Amino acid sequence: MGRNGHSRSNTGWIGRTAYLASAIALMTAAGAVAQDMSQDQPVPEPYPTRIDGYQLVRVWIDQPSDMRIVDRLTDDIWSHHVGPDGAIDILVSPEQMTLLGQSRLPAVVLNDDVQALIDAEWARLHSPTRVGHDGGQSILGDDWYLDFKTYDEVMAYLDELAARNPDIATVVEIGTSIEGRLMKGIEIRGLNASANCEEVLFNGNQHAREWVTPMSSTYIAEQLIDGYGVDPDLTAIVDTYAITVVPISNPDGYSYTWTNYRLWRKNRRNNGDGSFGIDLNRNWEYEWGGVGSSGNPNSDLYRGTDPFSEPETQALRDYILDRPNMTMHIDIHSYGQLVLYPWCFSNQRIEDYETFRSMAVAISDAALAVHGKYYRPGQWYSDLYPSSGTMIDWCYGARSGMMTYNIELRDTGSYGFLLPPEQILPTAQELFAGLVTMMQTGYEARPMLDVSELVYGSQAQLRGGRMTPGMTAYFIYSLTGEGSTYVPQLDVTLSLAKPVLGGSATVGNDGIASLVKPLPGSGPPRIIWVQAAEQQRVSNLITTQINN
Ligand SMILES: [Zn+2]
Repeated sequence: MGRNGHSRSNTGWIGRTAYLASAIALMTAAGAVAQDMSQDQPVPEPYPTRIDGYQLVRVWIDQPSDMRIVDRLTDDIWSHHVGPDGAIDILVSPEQMTLLGQSRLPAVVLNDDVQALIDAEWARLHSPTRVGHDGGQSILGDDWYLDFKTYDEVMAYLDELAARNPDIATVVEIGTSIEGRLMKGIEIRGLNASANCEEVLFNGNQHAREWVTPMSSTYIAEQLIDGYGVDPDLTAIVDTYAITVVPISNPDGYSYTWTNYRLWRKNRRNNGDGSFGIDLNRNWEYEWGGVGSSGNPNSDLYRGTDPFSEPETQALRDYILDRPNMTMHIDIHSYGQLVLYPWCFSNQRIEDYETFRSMAVAISDAALAVHGKYYRPGQWYSDLYPSSGTMIDWCYGARSGMMTYNIELRDTGSYGFLLPPEQILPTAQELFAGLVTMMQTGYEARPMLDVSELVYGSQAQLRGGRMTPGMTAYFIYSLTGEGSTYVPQLDVTLSLAKPVLGGSATVGNDGIASLVKPLPGSGPPRIIWVQAAEQQRVSNLITTQINN
């Protein structure tokens, strides 16, 4: 590794000592109160899965063959993105470290004893003087952010948040994990929000080990609920949108990181071959199965046998599908301090590239202003690190241009997933500032068309969302194919060749227009192209097939 590697390694060690010292100081301060209540608690066992001797290493790559060397070495890649200088963080065993040295890729050690960080964190969290936790009597107040919280604690906190202001906050159960854990979220909707208000989704922790994401998610909900009727800006936001926050999108994986292996990433699907887990953020249907995902069940990037094979991704998908007026979304991850937008699977620019780019810069600026931390905006895809089957590609590609970002929270690699607890609240504040900026700026997404399965002799159901209440929605189809056809009466250009009007409907107060149309009794299977339009606005194009 050379001298450079050793000096980075030493820096990491000094940093760790400082963090331990401050954590101990905090524990001592809070200790006396909590001690009595904790005496009856069973003493938990440390994590059975250990990684003694493993090191966190930053490697610099500048061509695809370098990335293949890394891929052959390990799939435990901690970075979500290759840095602008080609840096990528990987966890390596002593044997892999030797091979890495032989590869001659430039590298430095960020942390030479990751297990020691894990052990220190475990000891802190299982101390009777655990910071920010007084034995379960109350979890209100700023103490919540003094240390990380378990799945049960986060779920209980959502109930408490809703109870603080039941007029505007409701706990929603969006699904159930493989092991039967509830996926709870909280929906916040102001008293003056209109029936057709736009909807926003923030979800954290698709990846289990990213512990700062549930904490930051609860902060979003707490700030919006407590700020309503108090802070004019937040009140306006809550009166504009219905906002759902799902802090833990992978409850089984998250629980596993608290009991068995701190660095687990995937869900807990039993793959039947001795391996466990599917990478939920490679399991989404849009461009599923392509680059940057793995067909190997042992891989940390395993995409599953089919798109949406997992109840956790199905639950999030259905929640979005049920809300055709949803226009904005952020998938919250760590680490790297990044604001990433689609595409993940392709180097092509999305149609709304300029809009997404400028919003990403605005989010980054807002985060920077809080504590001076820079979150780098950029398209997820890079030649060195593409991904497919991600949530944000689906939200954009399958949901008619929904505004969607993948935000990577702190840090930039000193601690990675093992973030010191002192950084929880500042990280949450940075994220929240970015989200407030996004919601204040707003985004007019295209109308959203959904079409039911089409079977001869049955009814076709067409639904347009994000449309203008009181306007007429037109459902238009083509049996010829895609094309470009200007319709002067509506002042829109359809992506259809030889379009035919299928029917029209008045848009309701909820911004939704529905049309039910009987299909012919029988016929040959044929492809049909469909769009919805209103004055000057046109939806996504749906290509589907009429079957018998
Ligand atoms: Zn992640």
